[in-house]
Amino acid sequence: MTAQLIDGKAFAASVREKVSTHVAQIAETHGVTPGLAVVLVGEDPASEVYVRSKGKQTVEVGMNSFEYKLSAETSEEALLELIETLNADTSVHGILVQLPLPAHLNESLVINAIDPAKDVDGFHISNVGLLGTGQKSMVPCTPLGCLMMLRDYHGSLSGLNAVVIGRSNIVGKPMAQLLLGDSCTVTIAHSRTKDLPEVVRRADIVVAAVGRPHFVQGDWVKPGATVIDVGINRIPAPEKGLRDDGSVKTRLVGDVDFDAAVSVAGAITPVPGGVGPMTIACLLANTLTACCRAHGFAEPEGLTA
Ligand code: NDP
Repeated sequence: MTAQLIDGKAFAASVREKVSTHVAQIAETHGVTPGLAVVLVGEDPASEVYVRSKGKQTVEVGMNSFEYKLSAETSEEALLELIETLNADTSVHGILVQLPLPAHLNESLVINAIDPAKDVDGFHISNVGLLGTGQKSMVPCTPLGCLMMLRDYHGSLSGLNAVVIGRSNIVGKPMAQLLLGDSCTVTIAHSRTKDLPEVVRRADIVVAAVGRPHFVQGDWVKPGATVIDVGINRIPAPEKGLRDDGSVKTRLVGDVDFDAAVSVAGAITPVPGGVGPMTIACLLANTLTACCRAHGFAEPEGLTA
């Protein structure tokens, strides 16, 4: 058996298309353009790449992008002041503070200073509570992207056994809540889980969010199961040769041993080109949702949990 590939790149393009169409509609009907403010503190190169890509895609779907690049020495007070200003700015519908923050800044204090209605990352404690109690919330982008792909592939998820490997606040826990919301029977596995391979073998749906290259083995996967690989890991790729500085080039791999799992699973997301592209697409979807809720406009179908 060869699993069907779930093409996150194509799916993300279709989400952006839907967002773009709806953005044009509300601009024409109501004269409102959704706006996303992204705040980057410090010069972390990976974060700079993400922020650039977010800004570019925001503009491409017709929304306003506001970027704030602050020095690594920015005080907590100054950052909180900026967030207050963005909370009060009616042209800003979504606020994202790029994580991680420099060590002297208190991440949860900063995230919880964002107006929950503008918290497009879904990390504010109010949104965490709303999601946990099955109420309308802003949903974290990566798990939302996984949910969209699962719904698209399966239709109904009701009654399926889902195993989420990883219990982080950003991926594992919200993913489990979303699957529960769609009536899956959910198991959350983590580093203390006993006999993980056996736990995974019971799953109709496996979501791997561990941060360890090729961690999930092919023979852990139940034949026909759907495998969603959230992991983004960089490993040495000597076959690609050396960089100018003499170091070995690298490549991206997921948390699943793809080559082994692809012959057992029913469907699987590749890395790259699976969950990754969906994360920014869902950020744009969340910004549009936040804008619609702020103004009382009808929300687009299929872009929220
Ligand atoms: P964290 O490091 O916060 O969490 C990792 C989780 O994996 C923890 O809950 C940990 O368990 C669990 N874990 C670690 N080792 C084992 C083990 N041996 N057996 C079972 N569970 C284990 O990572 P994140 O959730 O932030 O990210 C996970 C992965 O997803 C990373 O590769 C990250 O790069 C990627 N990612 C991808 C995104 C995307 O856009 N595609 C977005 C966000 C993340 P415990 O709690 O017990 O320590």
